[in-house]
Amino acid sequence: MPRSPARFTQADARLKCCVPFCNRTTKRSLPYDEDQETLCGPHACATSLRLRKLHTAARKKCVDIMDQYPEPDDAPLEIIEHGLRFARLEKWLWKKLKAAAIEAAGGIG
Ligand SMILES: [Zn+2]
Repeated sequence: MPRSPARFTQADARLKCCVPFCNRTTKRSLPYDEDQETLCGPHACATSLRLRKLHTAARKKCVDIMDQYPEPDDAPLEIIEHGLRFARLEKWLWKKLKAAAIEAAGGIG
């Protein structure tokens, strides 16, 4: 069986929770992304459901647009701008979620 060029180790296959001193991990989603962050279940549940739903909806919208236009050159300009707006919104909501989780865990938000 050919080895993956990325050469995953067992440690790379799991993604650590971004709350400091939390040692829980979750399964990493592919493709491999060095900047990928996650919250473990208990820390995610400590954030507001409304914020989580907004983040999920923004991420789903980005994925839908990328699925619809796998080659960005084929997408009309307004679709690209629309997708970029949702990508920025998703990133902003993730920062809010992460800060809320760290704050709920007793750290500095
Ligand atoms: Zn955690």
